[in-house]
Amino acid sequence: MRLDKFVCKSTAFTKAQAIASITQGDVQVNGTVITDISAQVHENNDVTLVGEQLCSRPFRYLLMNKSSQTICSNIDEVYPSLFNYIDIERPQELHIVGRLDADTTGLVLITDDGRWSFNITSPNKLCPKVYRVHLRQSIDVSAKHLFAQGIKLQGEPQLTAPAILTIVDDKQVLLTITEGKFHQVKRMFASIGNKVMGLHRESIGCVTLDVDEGQWRYLTVDEIKSLG
Ligand code: URA
Repeated sequence: MRLDKFVCKSTAFTKAQAIASITQGDVQVNGTVITDISAQVHENNDVTLVGEQLCSRPFRYLLMNKSSQTICSNIDEVYPSLFNYIDIERPQELHIVGRLDADTTGLVLITDDGRWSFNITSPNKLCPKVYRVHLRQSIDVSAKHLFAQGIKLQGEPQLTAPAILTIVDDKQVLLTITEGKFHQVKRMFASIGNKVMGLHRESIGCVTLDVDEGQWRYLTVDEIKSLG
């Protein structure tokens, strides 16, 4: 982790205060003054601030059942940020792992652990995300094959990665994808001439929703490990 981030995480300092304390020589790593705010520090390094040992606070991992008409952003825009509904200290340190559109509901993961979120969002890690999709037109069974082969999205040079389509009824499907391109699910159905009328994320990896809409909870250790 960067030294300025470590100092922020282990003190009540703002980022500006952490940077000021590092550049003025208040911080030592393993007995040496370090003034480079981007120096990398590890959990087992001995970091002190004017002689006081700093212990990094543990990372935080949450899940939320996002309501419609809230946004996956740290600040309010046309709709309120979902952080308005999470009563937690230092919400500005947290980020959302794989955003949902304002009108999409369901599972959102939230953390301050950037490496962990990379494992979930990077397409190379093949972490499955399952969406329940309500469609305007009836779905034909041939769509299963198209989605498995990969779909050409408008404006994208490459096909989407193989996706699994499970038909629930003629206008309702479950779609499993391992990527998270902008508006991906809506664009996949648009490219086969259909339209998404309702979208809900049910699971990410083996983490599933078990809280009511608008509610949140911390992840269990097993859930964190399973995605990490
Ligand atoms: N795909 C979409 O089109 N929208 C979302 O919110 C999530 C995935």
